[in-house]
Order: sequence, then structure tokens, then C-alpha cells
Amino acid sequence: MEKSNQLKVELGQVIASLEDYLRCRKEEGVEGLPVSGEVLPPSDERFPAGKAHLLRNIRQELGECTRCKLHRQRTHIVFGVGNPEARLVFVGEGPGEDEDRQGEPFVGRAGQLLTKIIGSINLSRDEVYIANIIKCRPPGNRNPEPDEIRACEPFLIKQLEAIGPKIICALGTFAAQTLLQTDEKISRLRGRFFSYREARLIATFHPAFLLRNPERKRDVWEDMKMIREEYCR
Ligand code: URA
Repeated sequence: MEKSNQLKVELGQVIASLEDYLRCRKEEGVEGLPVSGEVLPPSDERFPAGKAHLLRNIRQELGECTRCKLHRQRTHIVFGVGNPEARLVFVGEGPGEDEDRQGEPFVGRAGQLLTKIIGSINLSRDEVYIANIIKCRPPGNRNPEPDEIRACEPFLIKQLEAIGPKIICALGTFAAQTLLQTDEKISRLRGRFFSYREARLIATFHPAFLLRNPERKRDVWEDMKMIREEYCR
């Protein structure tokens, strides 16, 4: 991307974060903010381009990855998209066919539902960050294998460290079990917060599961309300 376009994108992300912050305060009933030097964040936080830069470095380090066998059949590496300043990160399983073709996570039918779910808590895809446990499509959308996760997860962890979100939402069994290192069922993991490094992690049903089981949308809505509350705290 050209430098001036990149700056525009990053400025847009800073403005989105500010809008989001103000929306949260408004939801809390705050009608005005004091203006003084003391409300300015520490200098490193005033330059959120730093996080975008860190993410670009991680993408560069990943390169045209051949660390596991999935590289043989992939069309695109699906690194992650969204706001490097995001306070909320969604983590799915791995790219499907549409994502492999377009190089962006959650762009197929499940992705459209995820976009609506994000909208249901007054956020947009540009305000959050979206990534997956693995970055290349497993053939036939099979579950990722342990060696593939071992090769790929360190990059997700670096992305999460760079962004430093307040909340991580694991989408579906696979993401939840991988991040929490458990075999517990998603129906038992969802609906509560866990500690994950510096963040709070909540798991919910995967949008693809919701497409097959729309009666579980109510559960996801409950999880989203918990996220919104925590997000604005
Ligand atoms: N399902 C996922 O888990 N991730 C995607 O990016 C798309 C579908």
C-alpha cells in the first residue's frame, strides 16, 4: 500500500477508536469530557501507528510461509484484518474456501453472519480485529492438525501481543479449545470470561454452527451482551 493511503487507513482507525470510546461513554450517560493535558494518554499510545507497524513486521516475518503442509494447497495466506488498535479481537478456526480465495478472514456466509453479530453490539468490522488459529485453508475444511497449529499459533499470539486487546472472543469449539488448552465442550465454555494472558477471553458458538442451528443465536446474543458490557467498562 502507498504510504499516503496507509496513513489514511491508520488515521481512519484512530478516528474509529475515538468514536467507539465516545459511544461507550455516551452509553454510560457521560455527556461531556474534560479537556486538559492530563486526559492525554502516554506518548506511546498517542502513536497507534506503532501497532500497525508491529503487525506489518509480523506479516513480514511470516512471509510466504512453508512451515507446515497447508502451504501446498493454499491460494492466499489469511493473516487477519481490522483495527490494530482494536479492544476486541475475534478468533476463528481457519480460512474456508472464500477466505482462501480472497485472503481475508470471515468473508463467506459465516463471515456475513459474524459481521451482523459484530453490528449487534454497535461495532463494525473496521473497529475490531479478526483472525484465525491457522492462516491457511485445510483441504476440504477439515480440522487443523496439531503440527499445523504448532506452526501457526505463535503468529496469532504475536498478533494478539501487538494489538493488546481487552477482550478476545473465541469463535467455536476449535478456537476456544486451542486458546484455552482444554477439551471442554463449547456449550460449557461459553457464557463466561476467562483470563488469557493480559486479556479477558470469552467463547461463543461459531457463526457457521449458527447457520445450521439458528436456535442457538439467543446464546450468542447473551455472550455478545457480556462482551459489550466488558468492552465499555
Ligand atoms: N471460519 C473460520 O473459522 N474462519 C474464517 O475465516 C472463515 C470461516
